[in-house]
Amino acid sequence: MLLVGPPGTGKTLIAKAVAGESKVPFFSISGSEFVEMFVGMGAARVRDLFKQAQEKAPCIVFIDEIDTIGKSRNSGGGGMGSNDEREQTLNQLLTEMDGFAADKGVVILAATNRPETLDKALLRPGRFDRRVPVELPDLRGREAILRVHSKNVKMGDDIDFNAIARATPGASGADLANIINEAALRAVREGRKVVLQSDLEESVEVVIAGYQRKNAVLSMKDKLTVSYHEIGHALVAAKQSHSAPVHKITIIPRTSGALGYTMQIEEGEQVLMSKEQGIDKIAVFMGGRAAEEIIFGSITSGASNDIEQATKLARAMVTRYGMSEEFDMMGLETVNNPYLGGDTSLTVSAVTAAKIDEVVLGIIKSTHKRALEILEENKAKLHELAKFLLEKETITGEEFMSILEKPLDTPVDEA
Ligand code: ZN
Repeated sequence: MLLVGPPGTGKTLIAKAVAGESKVPFFSISGSEFVEMFVGMGAARVRDLFKQAQEKAPCIVFIDEIDTIGKSRNSGGGGMGSNDEREQTLNQLLTEMDGFAADKGVVILAATNRPETLDKALLRPGRFDRRVPVELPDLRGREAILRVHSKNVKMGDDIDFNAIARATPGASGADLANIINEAALRAVREGRKVVLQSDLEESVEVVIAGYQRKNAVLSMKDKLTVSYHEIGHALVAAKQSHSAPVHKITIIPRTSGALGYTMQIEEGEQVLMSKEQGIDKIAVFMGGRAAEEIIFGSITSGASNDIEQATKLARAMVTRYGMSEEFDMMGLETVNNPYLGGDTSLTVSAVTAAKIDEVVLGIIKSTHKRALEILEENKAKLHELAKFLLEKETITGEEFMSILEKPLDTPVDEA
């Protein structure tokens, strides 16, 4: 049985749990053990493992990171030392798997996050012909996982796991375990006996953006620029109908290099993204730079990450989601390894590739223009909110919305 899914989703844990539940011996090896072995050693290690398994049957054999051994034989180097060595190990594995009678009671589990690279021979009937997808948890799953990991941690009365689960789309089980752990450490550092919601929220931010750089010194000019930049993002989000609500805005620098950020949280679990939501998202990315342009008449390098993310999304909308008129529902790109960052390759002619660039640029330009228009229309609020953020350094979504919805020309409530 082949367990397939992204890193951190608990494939190894599932294998161990299966062994535990069935009360049989558990033998495991990891593909990474085979890296840089001498010729013949890999094959010998596989032979040993299966010999032990035969003797202790019924039992479970678990091969973690099987892609390291089982990479397609015509896929060239990488992974294990030499090609010869890799082939020998793989052949040994195939031989051992075929050598079992079905009634031997040896169950072989393997895990990989790169199923597309596996040698076809491994996936033939009688070998790993059963695939179990182990995917990233959904909203309910994340909430349940947070509960499991907090079982042995003293949690305060104000804990809202659902809110944390909503703030962490795309997080794996391992990430969530880490969030609880970080929160516990923070509580201890601050001399408290229980973990509070604020601890959990801070650790979500640590996972997203790194630790706070408390001693980072920013010039007043830079702080002002970052304030307008972040309010630019938040205002564009708030003034569009398909954007997720603003949860928090901060200009406290983080170790990831971010000088500030605007956190948006969807109301519920977002599985499908509509074209309108995609366009609105890109416009929000444009909002930071747009604010700098309007207020300072000059631009900074602060938008580099926004640019990267906006371009990635615009490209995917054109090449993979069929969301452009020009290319209709033509597939233009394939995802190479969906579980590992999902880098892509174009499957089109050079002429089409150039045309794609044009369409993507068109999306970027029109959303940039829209962001500029929104901010131009709300310039007074842009000033008011940026001033407030500069003073407070971190503001909540509620504070943001209450200032935004307040009629103009009244003094700012400092409460
Ligand atoms: Zn930005």
